[in-house]
Amino acid sequence: DPAAAREVDVVVVGGGQAGLATGFYLRRAGLVPGHDFVIVDAADRPGGAWPRTWDGLRLFSPATFSSLPGWMMPSWDDATRGFPPRDHVVDYLTHYEERYDLQVLRPHRVTSVRRADTDPHGRLVVEADDLTLAARSVVSATGTWERPFWPSHPGMGDFTGRQLHAADYRVPEEFAGQSVVVVGGGNSAAQILAEVSRVATATWVTTRQPRFLADDVDGRVLFATARARIKALEEGRDHAGVAGLGDIVMVASVKDARDRGVLRAEPMFSRLTADGVTWADGETRRCDAVIWCTGFRPALRHLHPLRLRTSEGRIPVGGESGTQALEEPRLHLVGYGDWTGPASSTLAGVGASAKSTASTVAALVG
Ligand code: FAD
Repeated sequence: DPAAAREVDVVVVGGGQAGLATGFYLRRAGLVPGHDFVIVDAADRPGGAWPRTWDGLRLFSPATFSSLPGWMMPSWDDATRGFPPRDHVVDYLTHYEERYDLQVLRPHRVTSVRRADTDPHGRLVVEADDLTLAARSVVSATGTWERPFWPSHPGMGDFTGRQLHAADYRVPEEFAGQSVVVVGGGNSAAQILAEVSRVATATWVTTRQPRFLADDVDGRVLFATARARIKALEEGRDHAGVAGLGDIVMVASVKDARDRGVLRAEPMFSRLTADGVTWADGETRRCDAVIWCTGFRPALRHLHPLRLRTSEGRIPVGGESGTQALEEPRLHLVGYGDWTGPASSTLAGVGASAKSTASTVAALVG
């Protein structure tokens, strides 16, 4: 019942790094957290997707290159201990929301965002578990972690072993002594292969030859390259951007896997069988588990009631902020990928989109 809804100017759906960075700039624009804007999050603890990733995950950049606006990520002794681990990021995000008193409401899962009436200046109704809000503006910052992408592959239903997505992988010990097939040509696959191969017999399969970055290329170079690309495009020049460099960052664990000789990809198998996988040439391999490291899609289900046209699973965005839904100016989308702002799905990159979004939103409700 929209009449029972609590009225606020802005609702931010999602309290991961993208929602927090947006909150930081809304607050700086003079909006009061918990009053003028509320951040609603489905999880029962801070940190967005980070606490849900696998235990051994590490950043692909040093701490000093992984900061949100306003407050640097506390240093981490990268030189001797490698890049910061997952829990360093979780601590940082936990303190970040406390530091700026962002008052995230959790756990409340937003199930729908819809129009209260046909008035384009009216409110959007945000329906969550135990909570209904009526907002003049909604910022969606729900990330991609909750929508792991599973390709469909022949024989998936026949395989009697365990199939899991990278999103459900936690620790290598679960696979000790087993035979495991890791699917995918990106960073998740390379990092999971690196740790699983220490305790299990691991086979890595990719649809094309994996493209490794040079050993000295990490997140810093990726950001510099992304920026160079933006500049080149603005000046009307062509630039291959990050994609031109390669895909896989050679973090310490992946280098170690290379040294052990296990970082060798085989072509994609043609089908799964009851107890393994088989290639087109007839070769077969028995395995206990298949780990699908096949990426993520934007988590946008809560926006379906708005019936916005989508293109390749994305909602067309633009405007001055680059994040405003073209068909629904009261809605902004932050942090999902390059389509909602260059490098906006990274810690260091989301600030720019959050800033332009907060400035448009503050003007809308001001
Ligand atoms: P999330 O962190 O997913 O936060 C979204 C929040 O929204 C969650 O708290 C969730 O509970 C909430 N939510 C979702 N749906 C709803 C709903 N319907 N209602 C209410 N709340 C909802 N980036 C880097 O900068 N450096 C790295 O080294 C790096 N490594 C990565 C490694 C992996 C394996 C992956 C997958 C990503 C990595 N990234 C890295 C990218 C990026 O930083 C993370 O994906 C980050 O979690 C994105 O933040 P976010 O705030 O957009 O989304």
